[in-house]
Amino acid sequence: MKYGWQWGIFVAAALLCAAAATGPAQAQSGKAAAKKSAAATCEPAQFRVIIDVGHSEEVPGALSARGVPEYNFNLNLARKIEAKLREAGFAKATLLITPGKAMAGLLSRITYTARHPGDLFLSIHHDAVPEAFLQKWIYDGKERRYCDRFSGHSIFVSNDNDEYPASLKFARLLGLQLKAQGLQYTPHYVEKFMGRRQRQLVDAEAGVYRFDHLVVLRSTNMPAVLLEAGSIVNRDEELRMADPEHQALIATAVVRAVEQFCQTRPPRKQGPHRFALNPFQQPAEAAAPSE
Ligand SMILES: [Zn+2]
Repeated sequence: MKYGWQWGIFVAAALLCAAAATGPAQAQSGKAAAKKSAAATCEPAQFRVIIDVGHSEEVPGALSARGVPEYNFNLNLARKIEAKLREAGFAKATLLITPGKAMAGLLSRITYTARHPGDLFLSIHHDAVPEAFLQKWIYDGKERRYCDRFSGHSIFVSNDNDEYPASLKFARLLGLQLKAQGLQYTPHYVEKFMGRRQRQLVDAEAGVYRFDHLVVLRSTNMPAVLLEAGSIVNRDEELRMADPEHQALIATAVVRAVEQFCQTRPPRKQGPHRFALNPFQQPAEAAAPSE
């Protein structure tokens, strides 16, 4: 999916207007602020995780090797993660489903996160590969495209996010928990052949890459991480991604990482929320790694 910079400015302007309409931010005295940043104690019932289902029914992202839209995989895994978080006491875990075309979905995501503050934003996707790597095969009587060369998950954070250090912290915890479940990240995003999708690996142990311009990561006012759970154009990995047991494994890793992350976070500050997207920064490029 692609979003032009003009849209980025439009979205930002609309949000800034909306922010102005909510009234001036309440000034906090240094003393009060210090009080609020008291020692971190995790209260799962208060800790709000927003699980963003990547893409939409109308614009469903990549097609798997067997012709299943990425959105279906994203929704199934996100639901599993939400259920497991709630089981673990994170009662405010919320599934974010944004119908409509790509730009409408982006606008909905940014508006939602600005109006409904959370403690952590986790966007769920499944990976594909650049066109040049796809090969043809016949599945169920139809020609489909696949690539078995790459497999594994990958995790992305944006240095443009106001809470980059916290985003990176959660990304690392998630990567290590996925590793503890026996899962391996894909290293191929560092390769030159990835072209404009080439990324900097910022944590080689946990498999965390930087994707600064991704709008859902840079414009959410909270720690934000995107998980590409696995490659659905890889014929074996597609089957694993559709397996409820494998989904449960990933969901367990997410829950453990959230529990650890929650322990490190002070209670969220209340009060009017501001919008992070700055229209005067360089043009927003919102292409998902699996576009
Ligand atoms: Zn995607």
